Amino acid sequence: MPDTDYLIIGGGMTGAAAAEGIRELDKDGTITMLSAEHAPPYDRPPLSKKLWEGKKTLDQIVAPLPRDVELHLGRRVVALDADRRQLTDDTGRVFTYGQLLLATGGTPRRLPFGGDAVNYYRTVDDYVALRDDVERGASFVVIGGGFIGSELAAALRSQGNEVAMVFPEDGITDRLFPPDMAADINEYYRNQGVEILNGESVNNIEQTDDGLVVITGSGRRVAADRVVAGIGIKPSTGLAEAIGLAVDNGIVVDEYLRTERPDIFAAGDVANYPDAILGGRRRVEHADAARAMGRAAGRNMAGAAEPYRYLPMFYSDLFDLGYEAVGRLDSRMTLVEDWQDEYRRGVIYYLDGGRVRGVLLFDVWDKVDEARALIESGEEVEPGSLIGRIR
Ligand code: NAP
Repeated sequence: MPDTDYLIIGGGMTGAAAAEGIRELDKDGTITMLSAEHAPPYDRPPLSKKLWEGKKTLDQIVAPLPRDVELHLGRRVVALDADRRQLTDDTGRVFTYGQLLLATGGTPRRLPFGGDAVNYYRTVDDYVALRDDVERGASFVVIGGGFIGSELAAALRSQGNEVAMVFPEDGITDRLFPPDMAADINEYYRNQGVEILNGESVNNIEQTDDGLVVITGSGRRVAADRVVAGIGIKPSTGLAEAIGLAVDNGIVVDEYLRTERPDIFAAGDVANYPDAILGGRRRVEHADAARAMGRAAGRNMAGAAEPYRYLPMFYSDLFDLGYEAVGRLDSRMTLVEDWQDEYRRGVIYYLDGGRVRGVLLFDVWDKVDEARALIESGEEVEPGSLIGRIR
């Protein structure tokens, strides 16, 4: 008899959803979760959005989790023996399992300088530290122009703090937004009082008696009390690699979210899965995907045998601007822009091979299902016919 029927490594949104998925089908099997974090599973999106807008408090972001999950917090797995179905945590405790889920997510990419002076924003502890800085009236340099950078710069500025943003691209979130729109969003941020240093790498961070100085690639020196960085994450694939599972931009899983070993599954940010709708393989780093994939993996561990077929959405808030999006969005694809109010309210369709593969709903709400249906239909479209299609 193993110590636990289901062992989940990772206490994020994926792990929590997996436990829920298991319980939907198996009311009695024992579930154990090991998490490196000290907090029980919580929803991550509010860390850079609603907690700052005063729309949620920390006790309202706790993720649903079956009450009988045996939770071990602040633990890291240091060894995994897949043949014996057992692992060892960093206190030396050994757990044997029936089935295993790798829901290990990703770890923030770090700069080769700056040390602990940089808050690599990812967890609730990072939120608490940043909240302390804000309450002390600190000034900030935010490094990165992706999701974390754009949302946090807006959140910090909205609290009244001085904020500068440094990022290598021309425009904020320009992997998503077309160039003219990204340039317009830069201006929008500037008008909100954020100093924007676009097209700039970061060469060093110096600690001086007066605080920190970020030195950019072009030699500019930007002073701040605190530096926050959101420069992407690396999928945490170490355990999978250690036992020889296939890893290729994430842990490779099949349509049931199973690895090459029938008793080991992977899901969430760390999983590279076959996309039944868009084709090819994908690794998605968004909350909706974590919830859906976690639940699907849990159900399959409990015997469901259901292929994972889901097109996740994501959303973001940038000061008073906001959007929802679904599918594959890459500003290098063929874009059809349908603005009711240029760069403030409208829909962008992302096309590949004459088909809509992604939809951005900018200040257009409750249309995700419509957008999803359009993508899932796989219909060949005349670009002009998309104007007015979703409003
Ligand atoms: P991200 O969205 O991938 O953005 C990373 C940003 O950092 C990009 O602007 C990137 O530029 C820049 N960058 C990379 N290396 C850099 C360097 N050495 N110096 C300066 N800038 C650098 O990642 P993230 O913002 O860190 O977010 C982390 C994860 O959380 C992602 O998985 C994201 O999807 C997720 N998240 C999602 C949401 C949401 O769905 N709304 C919100 C928050 C976080 P290049 O593109 O030029 O490399």
